[in-house]
Amino acid sequence: MSLVESSLDPARAQFDEVVQSGAGFTRTLKRGDHFRIVDLEGNQAVDTLFYNAHDASDRYSAVDTVREQGSIYLSTGTALISSEGNTLLTIVADTCGRHDTLGGACAAESNQVRYALEKKFMHSCRDTFLLTLACCTSDMNKRDIPANINFFMNVPVTPDGKLTFEDGLSAPGRYVELRAEMDVRVLISNCPQLNNPCNAYNPTPVRVLVWNAGA
Ligand SMILES: [Zn+2]
Repeated sequence: MSLVESSLDPARAQFDEVVQSGAGFTRTLKRGDHFRIVDLEGNQAVDTLFYNAHDASDRYSAVDTVREQGSIYLSTGTALISSEGNTLLTIVADTCGRHDTLGGACAAESNQVRYALEKKFMHSCRDTFLLTLACCTSDMNKRDIPANINFFMNVPVTPDGKLTFEDGLSAPGRYVELRAEMDVRVLISNCPQLNNPCNAYNPTPVRVLVWNAGA
């Protein structure tokens, strides 16, 4: 864990928007842009994917990112590696200290298996990813959804190798900030999950900001 604050002033950001819980978000970043996600109320899970803006088949790879940094947790200094071995973005500031890359996104199937049969049709991150790609891109679909990052989510691994979903380490106002190392598309599902105690059964909004390179 490596807690580092950013010197960038939110009042000078070129883009500043609140993403409601349960909503999707996508935007293209230029190389050198800084992108910040703020956990406004604390312990929200922000399911996120990144893609080469010019070739969506080159996308965030959890396996390559974990192998290259030799750690399963993401924090300041982490380079997010793509499936083609490119560095998509680097985490340059982080006031939470731990972000998950193993737990994946909630889906109709996991709602059913993890919670109850009748939860199958509740809103899920996978649905939000699909809706956002369908509405806002011309060339991406369900084939383009690999294993995602869960910003602000705490999924430690036990000594015998099991994943556990624990209470988050985040708190209101904590943030993570990334620098785009190439032109990238961001895709977010701000998790709508109402059945997981890790967010106190209460999904909440996040704020996203962009500072353009050189501005
Ligand atoms: Zn979710």
